[in-house]
Amino acid sequence: MSLRFYDTRAREVRDFTPLREGCVSLYLCGATVQAPPHIGHIRSGVTFDILRRWLLHKGYDVTFCRNVTDIDDKIINLAKAEAVEWWRVSERNQRAFTRAYEILGCLPPTVEPRATGHIPEMIELMRRLIDRGHAYAADDGSGDVYFKVDSYPAYGELSGQRPDEMRDADDGGGRAKRDSRDFALWKGARPGEPDWATPWGRGRPGWHLECSAMATKYLGGTFDIHGGGLDLVFPHHENEEAQSRAAGDGFARYWLHNGMLTMGGEKMGKSLGNSLLIPDVVQRVRPVELRYYLGQVQYRSSQDYSEEALHEAAAAYQRIEGFLTRAGEITGPVGTADVPAGFAAALDDDLGVSQALAVVHGHVRDGNSALAEGAKERAAGLAAELRAMLGVLGVDPLSEQWSGAGDSGLRGVVDALVSVAVEQRQAARARKDYATADTIRDRLAEAGIVVEDTPNGPRWELKHG
Ligand SMILES: [Zn+2]
Repeated sequence: MSLRFYDTRAREVRDFTPLREGCVSLYLCGATVQAPPHIGHIRSGVTFDILRRWLLHKGYDVTFCRNVTDIDDKIINLAKAEAVEWWRVSERNQRAFTRAYEILGCLPPTVEPRATGHIPEMIELMRRLIDRGHAYAADDGSGDVYFKVDSYPAYGELSGQRPDEMRDADDGGGRAKRDSRDFALWKGARPGEPDWATPWGRGRPGWHLECSAMATKYLGGTFDIHGGGLDLVFPHHENEEAQSRAAGDGFARYWLHNGMLTMGGEKMGKSLGNSLLIPDVVQRVRPVELRYYLGQVQYRSSQDYSEEALHEAAAAYQRIEGFLTRAGEITGPVGTADVPAGFAAALDDDLGVSQALAVVHGHVRDGNSALAEGAKERAAGLAAELRAMLGVLGVDPLSEQWSGAGDSGLRGVVDALVSVAVEQRQAARARKDYATADTIRDRLAEAGIVVEDTPNGPRWELKHG
């Protein structure tokens, strides 16, 4: 089966063929950095990281652009409330987002442009729209520039709405708007707010304009995939597409949208407190378990958060991990293989992670049976395929990311030191000196190292959380 995706614009699953053979260009609307991220903010990051890893696995050269919206009303208001410059607020929160993506093992974007670093590109795009009769500068001297919705007949096609039934653009635009659906490309300067010069007056960019300018700067006028959360389809993506296509660009060839992470069936709001901020959640489950949780539902479905579901996901992940650990102990170091055909077919079919995970868990079951039967070779083969699948999902426990092997080689040093201690403990037990054996175990526990006696000898691991 060939790779295919549900394209929001076509409202159907379409075969995917990239614009340039062997290459995929992917734009994802990144964070508006007005607060540190909670897990609802990060689902799209994980979703599109799985997409990217699958494309890489299939041999594509992927250019992944994820922007940062570093200026908006909330950032400005927060800065005013704290009596600091706006960029202190956005810098602080951007770092929190970067850290959260790292914690969850998302590959860094190829390029991560910031909106305020691309004002010349935005001015250029507004110039093209005004020249073509699709935009106008407000005639009240406010500095606002608006997109003229009635000049673009395809407006509404992406979100599937008819222009005459559409709600007004809710962007706080001024009285100089000629039509209530017209939306702001540029917001004229207001006292005490940051602004930049344009031929039409000072001001700051509108959110939609930013993404059009950044996507086309890095990926070209026409590119393969535009992604984002389902809540961005209208007006944000409708407006991005209208601007770019009205200006003469092809823009995105496929639109992919991930469902929302909800709580009690409702979109996660600001009133969550700190308990769902990424650094807090990873005190309760390990980062890799959080990633497994966020990535286990097909990306288009909404996912309702609960602490129980999070811990169930962690337990499911630990069963996978447990098999790989036992397989490693019994059959030797686990290698990697290609992914099984069933897994590939599932991911090719609009990233069907539910079916893909069915193959993963099938391998764990069969692998455990193989170990129980002493079929070492079969167990080793299943373990290798399992690692390959987990790698695509970004949750391979034996990978450098999650095994700690990347920590400047310290894992090996710790392993050697712990082995010495564990041997001393074994020796103490052998001579029936249980007091010494217990002391060694307790000292290791204080250092966060748990020693477990198994039929294959003692095993140690770091205590989590
Ligand atoms: Zn965007």
